[in-house]
Amino acid sequence: MLILSHADVVNLLPMADCIAVIDEAMRALSDGAYFQPLRMKAIPDGVANRMVFMPSLKKADPSIWGLKEIVVTPHNSKSGLDSHQGAVLLHDGGTGELLAAVHAGAITSIRTAAASAVATHALARKDSKVIAILGTGVQGRAHIEAMRCLWPDASIRIWSRTLANAATIGESANVSVAETISAACEGADVICAVTAAHEPILSPATIPVGCHVNAAGSSIATTRELDGAAMAAGSLFVDRRESTTVESGDFILALREKAIGPNHIRAEIGDVLLGRHPGRTSAEEITIYKSLGVAAQDLAAAELVFRRARERHIGVEVAF
Ligand code: NDP
Repeated sequence: MLILSHADVVNLLPMADCIAVIDEAMRALSDGAYFQPLRMKAIPDGVANRMVFMPSLKKADPSIWGLKEIVVTPHNSKSGLDSHQGAVLLHDGGTGELLAAVHAGAITSIRTAAASAVATHALARKDSKVIAILGTGVQGRAHIEAMRCLWPDASIRIWSRTLANAATIGESANVSVAETISAACEGADVICAVTAAHEPILSPATIPVGCHVNAAGSSIATTRELDGAAMAAGSLFVDRRESTTVESGDFILALREKAIGPNHIRAEIGDVLLGRHPGRTSAEEITIYKSLGVAAQDLAAAELVFRRARERHIGVEVAF
């Protein structure tokens, strides 16, 4: 089996290539080409981190199994560590043999931002030129790169709870720093919400008419970045319907407050990409992409990294 490090993944998975592979994976997922049960989470009481298991099977020829296993430790960023630590394990679909262990933190950061780029390309207004990124962690940085792949000349503003973090990124990535969420979002065509906030940071007052919002920061049922009214104000698109209804705090808490109804989801992004749903229908519409992150994305991205590594003799080969 092959061991592929963080550096190997970054080397073998440029953002533009990952955007193409995630576009394909989201179509295939909505078309039934992946078997993907809900993720399993181990969340012990009184423990600051959680373990998450995300299995999937790509039913192609050759078929391939993937399992992302990660421990999510939100306070890791204080010591400069990625909050997502673990591996994407790839198994041969025919024999079950373990083929590779791929660095999951690197896969997660790149594929999540790539998924937002795919959704933004499909749902945002084509004339978008002002982008707000809320959050300056691993995902904030990856989203700057992903948005620049779509619009190299867009004006990007970044905000974070800790202004100094936004200032550091602003300087290194040549983006402007906003001191408040309102200042970041005023006149924005695209908002990427990628914080670890537990309570809403976005309301209708901060989302301009015609904006596209990537709501990617909350991936559990008890936290959210959008309040109920913000969810109600937008047309909601998701990565996976069944995951959204049981795992998304943005959706579940808005539903509980009766801000939205159970049929608020317009479509999976894969259905928009396949032309089964029109997506945005007017320049004034607010579109929201609720990104929870799905196992098919990890499998698709890790498989591309694995195949490229084999071709280019990269990584550490281990007799297992
Ligand atoms: P990091 O720990 O690297 O960064 C967290 C960011 O969130 C920082 O900018 C931090 O601000 C900010 N933040 C933390 N708490 C709050 C709060 N209470 N209010 C406002 N901002 C806050 O995390 P990542 O970038 O790796 O991940 C960000 C979020 O995205 C996480 O919740 C993670 O679970 C989620 N995620 C979602 C994925 C998906 O597929 N949808 C995939 C991977 C992650 P500060 O500058 O103060 O540190």
